[in-house]
Amino acid sequence: MSETFQHIPIPELLPWQALQWQRIGAQWRAGRCPHALLLTGQAGLGKRAFAEAFSALVLCEQPQGGQACGGCKDCRLWQAGSHPDFLRIEPEKAGSPLKVEQVRQLGDFVSRTSGRGGARLVWLAPAEAMNINAANALLKNLEEPAASVIFLLISDSPAGLLPTICSRCQSITFPSPAEEVALQWLHNQGLEEQLARRALALSGGAPLLAAELAEPQAREVREKFLRELTCIAEGRTSAVAVAGRWEAPPECTEIEQLLQFWQQWISQMAQVRSCDLTGDAQLMALLQRLPGGGEEGLRPLFGFYDHLLQARKGLKSGANPNRRLLLEELMIRWARLFTV
Ligand SMILES: [Zn+2]
Repeated sequence: MSETFQHIPIPELLPWQALQWQRIGAQWRAGRCPHALLLTGQAGLGKRAFAEAFSALVLCEQPQGGQACGGCKDCRLWQAGSHPDFLRIEPEKAGSPLKVEQVRQLGDFVSRTSGRGGARLVWLAPAEAMNINAANALLKNLEEPAASVIFLLISDSPAGLLPTICSRCQSITFPSPAEEVALQWLHNQGLEEQLARRALALSGGAPLLAAELAEPQAREVREKFLRELTCIAEGRTSAVAVAGRWEAPPECTEIEQLLQFWQQWISQMAQVRSCDLTGDAQLMALLQRLPGGGEEGLRPLFGFYDHLLQARKGLKSGANPNRRLLLEELMIRWARLFTV
């Protein structure tokens, strides 16, 4: 696990995280930091960057200006991914579950004394990827917290966590930033305004996700996928054939991400409908294909949206369905939405 996280620069705080930072920073300085924190909010808001900045602060020997100094021995160890008081628990590969054996490493970590004499940190993400045994193993540690150990749990969908875990953590919630703040940040990343606006709308207001979606490779995959979905809706190709083509998505894309594109696209359709976004000919044409038109036509579309959400949750929680069948089933349902 830790070997994949070498040389992490201490991230700068994102402009929309100031309030959360002030709050937790003040608690930390006052020696009142809770022993477990749960960072929640949709993907693409920078929860990990925040958690990294906070981890570095907690471990730093001589914080400056309320943040890790970046130069002391602790900071250097942390950046090199070898700080003895920092344990990172993550799935072995993206989309896999967090297994009980991984959470059990905690036992050793919390029972030994601090390597550098300060607080120790356990990073666990995505928290919703814990299977039930892993969650129970964690719960034990949360119920009997070891002195000076701080748990940092990160989750895009905390609804997938055991309530007993949530109730033992202090939540830090990350809402989407105001549009102008997000657009300014995207502008600073070098994104041209029209592309930034479009990517931000697609991301559901999550700037980091928007930046990812604006990457040429991601755009290409997304557009190709959505073109194929349009062909299904227009009856020009079969759902089963498309499912076969996307069973193994192109490099750097997971099936879960394809489903996310699909969901974002449906949200956009709803926005086009309410005239928030006009001028997208492809979406307008699709909307007109929905039988019944009006609200009546949209209802099954929203039902399908929920279905996609469930499928994504299943994939994230580590359920390992037959991907071909899952895509086939979804695409057949999608095709039916457009048939009278
Ligand atoms: Zn430092």
